[in-house]
Amino acid sequence: MEPFMRKTMGNTTSLAIDPIEKKPLFHFHPGTEILSVSPNGCNMRCPFCQNYTISARKTPTRYISPEQLVELAKRYNTSSIAFTYSEPIIWFEYIMDTAKYAKPEGIDLVMVTNGLINEEPLKDLLEIISAMNIDLKSMDEKYYRKVLKGDLATTKKTIEISSEKIHIEVTNLLIPGDNDHDIENLSIYLSSIDKNIPLHISRYFPYLGYKRPPTPIEMLKDAHKIASGYLHYVYIGNAPIDGAENTYCPECSNLLVQRTAYRARIVGIENHHCSNCGRVVDIVL
Ligand code: SF4
Repeated sequence: MEPFMRKTMGNTTSLAIDPIEKKPLFHFHPGTEILSVSPNGCNMRCPFCQNYTISARKTPTRYISPEQLVELAKRYNTSSIAFTYSEPIIWFEYIMDTAKYAKPEGIDLVMVTNGLINEEPLKDLLEIISAMNIDLKSMDEKYYRKVLKGDLATTKKTIEISSEKIHIEVTNLLIPGDNDHDIENLSIYLSSIDKNIPLHISRYFPYLGYKRPPTPIEMLKDAHKIASGYLHYVYIGNAPIDGAENTYCPECSNLLVQRTAYRARIVGIENHHCSNCGRVVDIVL
């Protein structure tokens, strides 16, 4: 079946104010709230999609104009807007239009995306987007094509180009039996771009007809250990592991940002430096 898309400009399935940590974005204005909106549809078809009802099925929507969206952000005092939940790339024109109203107000635009976009439109987006969380679901081209109906090379290109222009973070949903063997390759790949790219290893839970078991906690911890050998900032999401979402200074291990249940508290940063060793922190504050 082809990925489902519909005429979707501004027709939104969901509108919420979230902690920015929920995107997840941990190194971009931690502790702030973000207005989050979603289109109905996606250009991929992951069989385990937790947002299946809005990514792959027609869902009731309500039209919100770009101007209204920015007015909502102002009314609720959020300094940023996230295009998220399903795939915002299908809202390309809408996002470009929203920027015309958001930029004069100093409101940042953020995308949570699968990265499946051609270079030319990506470059247009990078002129107006301030931060992205990009899913890197596997390092296996065949898996991307056959199972996810995506394209690994395109997503990698998006990560590489975006990392040069804006703040990015990467999420890997760790699925036992699917991609658990990828974590070292994936970490080496990201570190070859920039060791400071935050990596979120996310716990998988079965959904719909996808019957793999939930990611074991030990597997998440092992993956975290492997990835931390290559990257400065590795987090575990969707799992009850103490401290797995905290940010520590890569130089002296001082606790910089403490996170509990999507709430962030800056505890070890002074004037953009680690309060213990003085290293510059890799966080947009
Ligand atoms: S790319 Fe994201 S929204 Fe689209 S099908 Fe996959 S998990 Fe769902």
